[in-house]
Amino acid sequence: LVFNSIKLTGFKSFVEPTEFLIEPGLTGIVGPNGCGKSNLLEAIRWVMGANSAKAMRGAAMEDVIFNGTKTRPGRNQAHVTITVDNSARIAPPAFNDEDTLEIMRIIEKDKGSKYKINGKTVRAKDVQLLFADASTGANSPALVRQGQISELIAAKPSNRRRILEEAAGISGLHSRRHEAELRLRAAETNLDRLEDIVGQIE
Ligand code: ATP
Repeated sequence: LVFNSIKLTGFKSFVEPTEFLIEPGLTGIVGPNGCGKSNLLEAIRWVMGANSAKAMRGAAMEDVIFNGTKTRPGRNQAHVTITVDNSARIAPPAFNDEDTLEIMRIIEKDKGSKYKINGKTVRAKDVQLLFADASTGANSPALVRQGQISELIAAKPSNRRRILEEAAGISGLHSRRHEAELRLRAAETNLDRLEDIVGQIE
């Protein structure tokens, strides 16, 4: 998956609209402690659908919104947009004619967050599956948080297996299987009801 750029507005310390262009090759981000390097990585994880406050180093999901400094008031919303090259046609069918995908997540205070792909509102799951199918995503082992290596060493085998499954690009299948099982169960219930009704008529 090739990222072209990432734009942040009101996200953590990035209060002003900030755009990072990601050129081909290796990208390094350097800067003094506290300048926002980890916040940028968190923004990438967040726009891919990260849903736990812990992964975002906050107590609540809304903590990603710029909460002000001594001289600047906090904001009411944050958004992050990541632009991805779609020449490999990795997108869901509805977007797969497009050469680039703009995936956006917006959070507003007291309103929760929503997602858009190329301006169209989509479900969190659509964004999560898109990245999971491309073997990346909010929980991807390619994104290494501070302290994560020691967590990995101490992890239970079942958790370690999940990490390997992410790396193998099959984690999207688990959530599709779950959706399919739910649909199957609903169909079985309908069938049971139908049999009851048929029984009553006979
Ligand atoms: P280090 O090298 O120490 O890990 P870093 O460059 O990775 O530093 P970050 O941890 O990304 O820095 O940034 C921390 C800064 O972001 C702190 O100054 C913190 O006050 C600020 N920050 C975090 N969340 C918010 C928020 N919601 N609103 C405003 N500022 C925030």
